[in-house]
Amino acid sequence: MKAMVLYATGTPLREAEMPEPRVAEGEVLLTVRACAVCRTDLHVVDGELPDPKLPLIAGHEIVGTVAATGNGVERFRVGDRVGVPWLGWTCGVCAFCRSGRENLCDRAQFTGYQRDGGYAEMVVADQRFAFSIPAVYPDAEASPLLCAGLIGYRALRMAGDAMRLGIYGFGAAAHIIAQVARFEGRQVFAFVRPGDDAAAAFAREFGAVWAGSSEEMPPEPLDAALIFAPVGGLVPAALRATAKGGTVVCAGIHMTDIPTFPYRLLWEERIVRSVANLTRRDGEEFLALAPKAGVKTTIETFPLGEANTALASLRGGKLRGAAVLVP
Ligand SMILES: [Zn+2]
Ligand SMILES: [Zn+2]
Repeated sequence: MKAMVLYATGTPLREAEMPEPRVAEGEVLLTVRACAVCRTDLHVVDGELPDPKLPLIAGHEIVGTVAATGNGVERFRVGDRVGVPWLGWTCGVCAFCRSGRENLCDRAQFTGYQRDGGYAEMVVADQRFAFSIPAVYPDAEASPLLCAGLIGYRALRMAGDAMRLGIYGFGAAAHIIAQVARFEGRQVFAFVRPGDDAAAAFAREFGAVWAGSSEEMPPEPLDAALIFAPVGGLVPAALRATAKGGTVVCAGIHMTDIPTFPYRLLWEERIVRSVANLTRRDGEEFLALAPKAGVKTTIETFPLGEANTALASLRGGKLRGAAVLVP
């Protein structure tokens, strides 16, 4: 099968002919229909995350069709459409797994990081960590739901019942979560790179009541802020824009260093927290909610062989919504 393979971090992916993966017990073999490109893929390729499997097939927002099933697979049949997210496997026995926090499992394996992912024609997945995809979404449109949507949803839940919601960085995750937030009756305030008028217009299209530069203060204080951009300087900026008792949620897996800031920005019971990975429950909840909330995804498709171009577009901030690779 054809795949785009990372042989060493800091180098471009190389197109390669790889052996078709074989299913083990409890696994499904999928024909990949679409795989969205996540900022985490950039962090893996750039070597900003420690110890990826090498060589590695990246990609963890996979929509595919079941081509074969291993022994013991009872959730899916050949021909079913299945989504594969970042969380690829957990131990089920550590203290985190046993307390409903499998996202923090001590021995978790992640798709497109410790397990081969979806920048390929075929992929295998543990059936227990795969999802059914709502029928209303075509394959490519569904793929960004699997991380941008899912992790965005977990970040939104960490914001509690905040009505005035700030979103820093208006890319794939933000454009999905802004729609969910509006559906829930919240007001979205979008913060974009200074001078990025296209991103501000994109945010308004998706229902932001206000869109401006991340260096500006919003017209009213925020009840919570979600930071999707990997920029540590946004943490004090978001705290400054947040009301007493508000929460700032860092939703990315990697961020540049957070600069020092005066304690008064945190004072008055403001909270800074991160969100790591997802649980299967997040996935089930979000994939049930997305069609009800009328969530639509904006995508730009690339042939599988152009994965490096897709990554470069994401790096350069040139995308509206999400890049999706189609084998
Ligand atoms: Zn565990
Ligand atoms: Zn991701």
